[in-house]
Amino acid sequence: MSKKKPKKQEFQAEVRQVLDIVINSLYKEREIFLRELISNASDALEKLRHLQLTEEKVHDDKLTLEINVTSDDKAGTLTIQDFGIGMTAEELVENIGTIAHSGSKEFLTALEEGGERNESLIGQFGVGFYSAFMVADEVTVYTHSWKEDEPGQKWVSDGSSYELEESEGQRRGAKIVLKLKEEHKEFAGEDRLKGIIKRYSSFVPFPINLNGEKVNVVDALWMRKASEIKEEEYAEFYKFQANAFDEPQFRIHFQSDAPLAINALLFTPRDNLEKFGLRRETAGVSLHCRKVLIDAEPKGLFPDWLRYIRGVVDSADLPLNVSRETMQDSALVRKLNQVLTKRYLKSLRDEAKKRPEEYEKFWAQFGHHLKEGVATDQEHKENLAKLLRFETSFTEKGKLSGLEEYASRMTEDQKEIYYLCGQSREAIESGPYLEAFKARNLEVLFLLEQPLDEYVMQQLLEFDGKKLVAGDAEDLNLGDAEEEDSADRLSEENATALCAWAKEALGERVTEVEPSERLVDSPACVLNADKMGSAGMRRMMKAMGQDESLAPLAVKLQLNTAHPMVRNLDALRESDEDLAKLVAEQALDNALAAAQLLDDPREMIARSYQILERVTKT
Ligand code: ADP
Ligand code: MG
Repeated sequence: MSKKKPKKQEFQAEVRQVLDIVINSLYKEREIFLRELISNASDALEKLRHLQLTEEKVHDDKLTLEINVTSDDKAGTLTIQDFGIGMTAEELVENIGTIAHSGSKEFLTALEEGGERNESLIGQFGVGFYSAFMVADEVTVYTHSWKEDEPGQKWVSDGSSYELEESEGQRRGAKIVLKLKEEHKEFAGEDRLKGIIKRYSSFVPFPINLNGEKVNVVDALWMRKASEIKEEEYAEFYKFQANAFDEPQFRIHFQSDAPLAINALLFTPRDNLEKFGLRRETAGVSLHCRKVLIDAEPKGLFPDWLRYIRGVVDSADLPLNVSRETMQDSALVRKLNQVLTKRYLKSLRDEAKKRPEEYEKFWAQFGHHLKEGVATDQEHKENLAKLLRFETSFTEKGKLSGLEEYASRMTEDQKEIYYLCGQSREAIESGPYLEAFKARNLEVLFLLEQPLDEYVMQQLLEFDGKKLVAGDAEDLNLGDAEEEDSADRLSEENATALCAWAKEALGERVTEVEPSERLVDSPACVLNADKMGSAGMRRMMKAMGQDESLAPLAVKLQLNTAHPMVRNLDALRESDEDLAKLVAEQALDNALAAAQLLDDPREMIARSYQILERVTKT
């Protein structure tokens, strides 16, 4: 193959946009660029170390795994060299000439909304390399891939376009040379550089040499005794490991010998980046064996719903040469998963007890993930149930309660735990289903995250031996209300006749009409007539866009025979049956709406005008 001429190439349009943002507005601290370049060097070395375990032939195999930072303050240049995996020509174009990550567009929109958080976003979106242009006029990458027969490459860019050509005599890895801007020459100063490296890169697991002198302590924090580690060390390690700028919300650091030898240091972040609606987190707890990184993002080490955890797990029981592919299905990783998940959930429970306010902050960010756990993972259901939090009819708006607390407030006669679903606390409070519980002074959980909460309840089925029961279930048996029954109730005979008439009038729309024992203030409510098409199921199927496969709605209508409207209706069906029919239809639609089961209000609106017309006639 003949040597190609350097070719000037334009960056992909999105790269240009990202570059502009990175250079002009993203960072408050320009010095971050060094952290990003060192972190890339460290990643490349980790990958190399892994290849050495799994591949037969790695180019330049004798090179030390280290990072060399050299500066020349007279010339105003700075070089960061690693002996990692390097890049081929294709990889150069793909990794730094385009934004291959599907996250690039999301990154741009995230920046618009991120505000203060911008700094924590950058490392997360894989655009760190470009931060070099904040301080440099020109960036040159000399590189040679670990693959023996790939030629060396030189990539050079001024931040507006780049040139790529083959380059002989390159050693394995990458050497990034920055020609510093006049106003940023300070970054060639040795003391300045030393400070930055110590500040941001203390935990890089490879030696970092600055002008020939080692500046970091290569130290596996997680292997040390917890009692000997300072708070700041943990915080710094978290920032390094999670590529984060915030402080962790919770931390656990533990060692165990049985059933597996584990050293684990796990962090719960403060913010849930998924809440920005930008992307889905991927596994972020790295797996090591006696300090050697096996996989930075091992799948299966934690269940997917705990994908927000950051940190390190080190197990001496892992075989070093395990490949990433086989590891995922290995019995050992499954066992690790089980042990770690249990341990993590237990630590959350401790936090909830010890620091309830902090736990609520955590819950606000990551509660959704725990619910996802209940919904998808049978194994940890019971432990997760104790971590759930809801508003209830006994708490103030915005205040939460766990199931254990609820259970502790249950009266002796109460055998079940009740819940109601709704769009908001207000919607539930003004709907017809809460009345029966209020009248009996029974607490009801308010499930406001739809349809997930309802699904969670259906998965749990019970808590601590107490059944979880929907407050709009048909077969609810709450016993007598505390208050005396209204004297103004329709007689049993009238009530039966009215219900029979209403069933006739409403036809196929209802399976049955009956007098209600649960209603107090509302005139009517609907109950699920068949289990498979329950209100909850319908709402869920609708949310999933699968409502077409549902059977037509079949509900039972209950009438409050003590309510003036219902009593009037009983008289009206004698005097003006046409109007009475309209009223019955309208009452049914109102009850469906309160149950979030009225899909199309058009008919209801037209009918309500008909009724209004009749009652406004003079
Ligand atoms: P990220 O590190 O989050 O992927 P960057 O913008 O920092 O995003 O780097 C982009 C990509 O360029 C990296 O994923 C990697 O493939 C490649 N890269 C950057 N620096 C190096 C290096 N020193 N050695 C090998 N590859 C590198
Ligand atoms: Mg990077």
